[in-house]
Amino acid sequence: MPELLSESSPVARKLHRCGTCTGVIEAGQRYVRASLVHDGRVYDWVTCQACDDDAVTNRVCLWAHSWDEGATPEMAHEWATEAVIHGSQIDQRVAKDFLERWGTYPRITVTAG
Ligand SMILES: [Zn+2]
Repeated sequence: MPELLSESSPVARKLHRCGTCTGVIEAGQRYVRASLVHDGRVYDWVTCQACDDDAVTNRVCLWAHSWDEGATPEMAHEWATEAVIHGSQIDQRVAKDFLERWGTYPRITVTAG
């Protein structure tokens, strides 16, 4: 299971991509950066504020019983496509918002500076 080393919520200075919904995090937006260690490897996990507020990772892990592995974007997308139809009222709302963010990143044009 990934172990959390530290977590911060900085303001983006450049474009980032959310590791959960793959949506864009634009410069100036607040996001969540977690430093994790898993299998002896230390890495940063970047999440948009919306995914953090909605606890998307927790919902996906609960649904997939994947507390040991965490939640990949593919798993999260699978959860959302199911939850948007069959989920509880709150899950449907969270999943709908998630799917609206999903895949927004490639459509954004990155400008220098
Ligand atoms: Zn996100």
